[in-house]
Amino acid sequence: MIRHLATRLVLYTALGTLFSVTASVAITAAAMKLAGLPPLLPVATLLSILLPATVTPVVMVPLILSNRRERGLRTELERLVLTDMLTELPNRRAFFEFTQGVIDAPAPVGGRLTAMMIDVDHFKLVNDTYGHDVGDAVLKRIAGVIRAEVEAAGAPRSTVARLGGEEFVVLVDGLVPTAIARLAERLCHQVHRSVGAGEALLPVTVSIGVAFRAHGMKIDQLLKAADDAVYAAKRAGRDRWSFAGEREASSTTPVRRIVPRPMPRPANDRFAAN
Ligand code: GH3
Ligand code: MG
Ligand code: MG
Repeated sequence: MIRHLATRLVLYTALGTLFSVTASVAITAAAMKLAGLPPLLPVATLLSILLPATVTPVVMVPLILSNRRERGLRTELERLVLTDMLTELPNRRAFFEFTQGVIDAPAPVGGRLTAMMIDVDHFKLVNDTYGHDVGDAVLKRIAGVIRAEVEAAGAPRSTVARLGGEEFVVLVDGLVPTAIARLAERLCHQVHRSVGAGEALLPVTVSIGVAFRAHGMKIDQLLKAADDAVYAAKRAGRDRWSFAGEREASSTTPVRRIVPRPMPRPANDRFAAN
């Protein structure tokens, strides 16, 4: 009877010790991971033997906190590096990082990858006539219009970025050409309709080049085709969109001549910029 009890006691003690050692190693490994250290099992075992259970948190907590702060800083830094500070759109670098993923992925059924290059017409004239601050606000406003219209078009996947200066790019996946034409038409229309200062509309328009990705086309070839189409739209009179490879600009938008009117410089806060 006594032998039986003693055997049980030894067994339970062994199991308890095994459990507490395993738990201690697991907790130490988890704390190491949180602290940004590789959770190597031999190191975790050694630490949990060397450090009493109560000491482990005291040692690990500062490491964990500093690792979290570092990760927060890294995330913020990444955001700054990938965002255009004026329009808050993804910048050129972000766009090319994003396109790598999209270009390698299979196209969704019923649609194909389309690039739209958008260039503001006579933007230098806008700056020269109304000042650089108004020019900046115009770019912000145009970015807002593009973002809203692309979202409203309901593509399964899309991205809008500012490539630099007064040039934007939209990459859309899963919209058929008629939907793309509708989007391009709306973009031309909405920019002209809604870019203004207070009550006054500024005579701002955009030219858009549209290119559909042919099989095996690389991203730079696709963008070059869209860029060539922008120039076709410019040559045809601006304020319009054009499909790559077509001789005539395809837009049905009537040509609106850009005649900057002298007007009082609007206060920035009255300027529609979202
Ligand atoms: P086009 O219709 O042929 O495209 O003529 P454009 O005047 O738009 O083209 P151009 O390349 O001659 O001028 C682009 C202008 O964009 C010149 C530059 O000062 C202005 N610009 C570029 N980046 C910014 C910016 O961040 N803010 C402001 N306000 N202007 C900018
Ligand atoms: Mg340009
Ligand atoms: Mg321009």
